[in-house]
Amino acid sequence: MASEHNSDQPGRSPLGRQLHHERLNQMFWALQIFLLVATVQSMALGRVSSALAMAVAAGLLFLSLWMVRQQHYQLAATWMLGLMTGLCYYFLWSSDGLRDEAVLGYPGILVVASIIGNRRIFIGLLVVMIASLLVLGSFNSLGLHQTRQVESNINVAILLVLILLITAYCIRLLINDIRHLVTQLNEENQRRRESQAQVEALVNHDSLTGLPNRTLAAEQFELMLRHSEREGQSVALLFIDLDNFKPINDSLGHSAGDEYLIQIAQRLVDEVRTSDAVSRFGGDEFVVLMPDLPPGESIISRADELLQTLREPMMLQGHELTTTASIGIAIAPADGTDFATLLSKADMAMYESKRAGRDGIRYYNTSMNNDAQAQVKLISDLRKALQSNELSLHYQPKVDLKTGKLCGCEALLRWQHPTRGNIPPIEFISLAERSGLIIEIGMWVMQQATGALSRFDAVGLPGLTMAVNVSSLQFKRGNLDRVVEQALTESGIEPHRLEIEITESMLMEPGEDIDHTFHRLQALGVTFSIDDFGTGYSNLGYLNKMKIGTLKIDRSFVSQLQLSPQDTAIVTAIIQMANSLNLTTVAEGAETQAEADLLARLGCTQGQGYFWARPMPEADFIKFALSRG
Ligand code: C2E
Ligand code: MG
Ligand code: MG
Repeated sequence: MASEHNSDQPGRSPLGRQLHHERLNQMFWALQIFLLVATVQSMALGRVSSALAMAVAAGLLFLSLWMVRQQHYQLAATWMLGLMTGLCYYFLWSSDGLRDEAVLGYPGILVVASIIGNRRIFIGLLVVMIASLLVLGSFNSLGLHQTRQVESNINVAILLVLILLITAYCIRLLINDIRHLVTQLNEENQRRRESQAQVEALVNHDSLTGLPNRTLAAEQFELMLRHSEREGQSVALLFIDLDNFKPINDSLGHSAGDEYLIQIAQRLVDEVRTSDAVSRFGGDEFVVLMPDLPPGESIISRADELLQTLREPMMLQGHELTTTASIGIAIAPADGTDFATLLSKADMAMYESKRAGRDGIRYYNTSMNNDAQAQVKLISDLRKALQSNELSLHYQPKVDLKTGKLCGCEALLRWQHPTRGNIPPIEFISLAERSGLIIEIGMWVMQQATGALSRFDAVGLPGLTMAVNVSSLQFKRGNLDRVVEQALTESGIEPHRLEIEITESMLMEPGEDIDHTFHRLQALGVTFSIDDFGTGYSNLGYLNKMKIGTLKIDRSFVSQLQLSPQDTAIVTAIIQMANSLNLTTVAEGAETQAEADLLARLGCTQGQGYFWARPMPEADFIKFALSRG
């Protein structure tokens, strides 16, 4: 039995040993006092031999004190209890025999032995006691030894042995129970401590990389700041965002993405100093805290070392990858002493670094804050824009490159700001996405675009198609399928004439919501095209699986057609691939006759660009379309 085994070796844990040490010491001194008092009393009564015996016992007892000091606790207990048993027996033998009050010492000794000693000591003492009683009783009965009391004989001895046995048995049972309970309590305590530690680790650490999370990073920051401020130094907060995590995750899958993040985390940890702290804030965002910076010290070089380490090629599931990252830096106390403030400033600086072309480092400066405030203002303006009719759609024609005939158009959002004038979608679409406003705006765009298409029909234009841009957020949260269904019902447009433009990354973005919306939309019969094709990562298998109908070749390739043989090769390859997959191709942003001709020669199906027409308001588009017959 485990508890029995443990109870035989008390004092194993440091706490248990400490307790043993203390108790044995206390017992030693208690016995010494008892022996001193008893010796003096015996002397006073003229019992010299008893007094002498106790004095000898007191002297020998010091050996147990020495053993305790040497940490031989079991030996000390054995010696102490053995000595007391011997002393009791001496009194039985030399005084009133089995009727002597010293016999009371036996059960007392057993209780102590059972608590402080192990099973061997307990049984050993019990056997010695029983034997001593039987020997004394037999000697008395046989007349071999004479004690003062006449009623000391074998019968009394047997009775005493029985009493001792039953007492010993009960003591043992009870003590075992107590030990068992204590062991259980200890185990329970241990389990509680362990689970508490686990909970704390979970609460404070990122489960993937094991790095501290935001909560712990905030605590680390407070400590660092307090220390640095005392020394007149600063703490730098580096906000690191990986530039290419998403495409890696999209193209190689989640488990590769996880492994990638773990390796990145390891690199950062290996690179920073021991006093620095690396944490992960979820996704591909890491934060490094660098304390104890002397005033005015630049940490650009240290941040650059981090970028260098990240740039080293990494092997991931057989692919060699190179990582770049964008870093934003804010310094405490100069930029603030509050963790959240500093974090948002470093975040702004990081965005600035992304905007400046990624793979770079930016310090926070106050103008960034002004930019951020301007963005907040713009978002609130955008919120009002829908109600105040500041938004409108322009339509840009798409032309069949073989026949030169108009085949459809793309709806493009315009915002006429009351004070700032025309704001390009490039500026406000991302704000609309970040603020979630895109869902409401996207719904409005869908209704407007399908409404316009039915009006085109009404003025006698041939069955044109309408391409509408949607953002991934609409797929994820916006009930896009229901929005489209309603727009089609209200406008009475045949579903196949509505073309939904998505980006490559959206196609690769895994997620049940996206898949579900996709399939619902497909079931409705609308068509899909991939916008800005060639700029992201595409999985050709997906193109087929998702029944994509059209690829829109990004303007960046088209505009370089005559200048860069490489871009010409890319466009040629896209067109050939699309043709073999039976997909329509639309070249975006053709501006010259020469580009248009070349695209037609390469076999591109349709063109959309300033060469034919710019995006224009509905009325202008109708005029344009009618004029082309
Ligand atoms: P996009 O979908 O790739 O749209 C094509 C962009 O290229 C349009 O810019 C168009 O005006 C421009 N463009 C067309 N032909 C030429 C050309 O020959 N030369 C040049 N330089 N540019 C040309 P725009 O209207 O500024 O829109 C920018 C982006 O904003 C769009 O790119 C699209 O991604 C987004 N966007 C526009 N409207 C919406 C919308 O309603 N919803 C969503 N989610 N995004 C939209
Ligand atoms: Mg588009
Ligand atoms: Mg495009």
